[in-house]
Amino acid sequence: MKRRILFLGPPGAGKGTQAIRIASKYGLLHLSTGDLLREEVTAGTELGKEAKLIMNKGELVSDQLVLSIVEKRISNQKEGWLLDGFPRNLVQAASLQSLLEKINQPIEQVLLLELTDEVLIKRLLTRGRSDDTEETIKNRLTVYKEKTTPLIEHYSLLGLLKSVNGDGEMEEIENKIEEILI
Ligand code: AMP
Repeated sequence: MKRRILFLGPPGAGKGTQAIRIASKYGLLHLSTGDLLREEVTAGTELGKEAKLIMNKGELVSDQLVLSIVEKRISNQKEGWLLDGFPRNLVQAASLQSLLEKINQPIEQVLLLELTDEVLIKRLLTRGRSDDTEETIKNRLTVYKEKTTPLIEHYSLLGLLKSVNGDGEMEEIENKIEEILI
């Protein structure tokens, strides 16, 4: 079983849902930078206030900020982890790489959940999160394509990437993911 995992994929592909299921089934730490940022927003912290403006535009918050969120939590995690929504660009991938080298915990699998824009937009519009307005959704997809998709080639070249089609029944997709991870 792979125990140090990254989930990649566009917003609305179902990364969060699948990450929660897989992490709880195998006792991995589920780390969603989006969830952690939303907690800060709800708690009304300074960090949350700053992040909220950026998140509501569909832009990425600063690399340094998300890295510090991840670093704090991952360092003593010996059972394994599943990162969901991080890294989001090549700078974050490089920072993650040096952190993982420092703690001697290399990535074992990168899993890409793929879905067409049409299905993504439909899903996001029914989700009802505060950053799920039509305009923000469009920007999040643009940001994904520009900043995050280079990670697909990056992790493919490292021989770590496998893809799963994210369109289908939740259980069916979960089974396909498990086949890759086991
Ligand atoms: P998510 O829940 O992963 O869709 O993230 C929601 C929002 O949080 C994104 O649109 C970004 O504004 C912010 N965010 C989450 N993860 C990151 C990250 N790794 N780097 C920068 N911004 C992030």
